Amino acid sequence: MAKIQMTTPLVEMDGDEMTRILWQMIKDELILPFVDLKAEYYDLGLKYRDETDDQVTVDAANAIKKYGVGVKCATITPNPARVKEYNLKQMWKSPNGTLRAMLDGTVFRTPIIVKGIEPNVKSWKKPITIARHAYGDVYKNSEIRVQEPGTAKLVFTAADGTVTEEKIFEFEGPGVLQGVYNIDDSIESFARSCLAYALDLKQDLWFATKDTISKTYDREFKEIFEKVYEEEFKDAYEKAGITYFYTLIDDAVARVMKSQGGFVWACKNYDGDVFSDMLSSAFGSLAMMTSVLVSPNGYYEYEAAHGTVQRHYYKHLKGEETSTNSVATIFAWSGAMRKRGELDQLPALVDFADRLEKATIDTIEEGTMTGDLVLLTTLENVNKVNSLDFIRAIRAKLEEA
Ligand code: NAP
Ligand code: MG
Repeated sequence: MAKIQMTTPLVEMDGDEMTRILWQMIKDELILPFVDLKAEYYDLGLKYRDETDDQVTVDAANAIKKYGVGVKCATITPNPARVKEYNLKQMWKSPNGTLRAMLDGTVFRTPIIVKGIEPNVKSWKKPITIARHAYGDVYKNSEIRVQEPGTAKLVFTAADGTVTEEKIFEFEGPGVLQGVYNIDDSIESFARSCLAYALDLKQDLWFATKDTISKTYDREFKEIFEKVYEEEFKDAYEKAGITYFYTLIDDAVARVMKSQGGFVWACKNYDGDVFSDMLSSAFGSLAMMTSVLVSPNGYYEYEAAHGTVQRHYYKHLKGEETSTNSVATIFAWSGAMRKRGELDQLPALVDFADRLEKATIDTIEEGTMTGDLVLLTTLENVNKVNSLDFIRAIRAKLEEA
């Protein structure tokens, strides 16, 4: 059988621990036998990041800017324990943070739905995609521990020296104080990414803040979303038969729990942090969740939502059998290949991405799955397999088709 041809390389970013092992298995069993893979390889494994003083991460981000589409394996974000374990020159920053800062994007996460792994929320029939603003707010805060009575003020000194002041609170004793910010440029590109992504999926877009309480800060978010929608997306949304829907964050949460799913939910930074974990657990598992970074300049970076599955890796190193779920990493590859196929007008590559995803879902729905899903499934007589046998079962399905 002739292999599927590509024209533009994918930016391939290898990673760490158990997911690095899965990465190789996926390439060997599910991609290289079928696709004449064009990829530019960057080793984001911690050892090589350390050897290159993390230059490799910067190079990978620049390659995504050059070619447009990247696929990334999970990577270790070093902490003091990792600095010791890998004898690192320094505690390098999170590669995802570096990529996000260089590509300036929004991360969209969608659960992968299969029969037999039912969401905890009975009404959810279709996936809910969550989009988290990844700039500013409480993640870039300044805080003061107040120890004694005094006056707290919010002070802004303009470049020309003009001062704007707002009294915050008159402390009579100890307390806490916090300052946060965001910028219009970032909110605007967040709004644009979300509106474009939902249009791409032909799904409604929901957005919510607490603008009744935060009459300036949150209201600005609301108004920027409205402006970008009205000026750039309204016609396309009407044509596609989808809506942009704004409500208060508490109302949004209540509606999400009663919805059938099938929409994109744009969240402010903190809301997205909290609700993406709620959503992924309620839908089943982080290993059944896709994740893509979409930049306002049209760059895409696909990855799994979970980490490097360290505990399984240590078992693997001891020669013990592992049953690690590779679905999210397989979908990172299929997502990247589909996008590459769409951009380069290669229907065969798009079709292969569809078939790879279908083969993966069919394998699970027919009862062959890894240990994490065995614990969740409502199917009976399931066949628990090891990491490699799961991938081989998918390959057998692909070859059948
Ligand atoms: P993790 O790798 O996501 O794993 C946490 C636990 O979740 C695992 O021990 C496992 O539970 C379960 N799990 C996660 N993915 C699974 C899969 N594919 N198949 C089966 N079970 C799975 O998170 P972590 O242990 O907190 O972090 C490990 C490393 O990953 C850290 O160094 C962190 O920096 C990095 N990390 C990277 C990314 C990224 O690159 N995007 C994201 C998060 C974390 P059991 O042990 O109970 O089986
Ligand atoms: Mg979180």
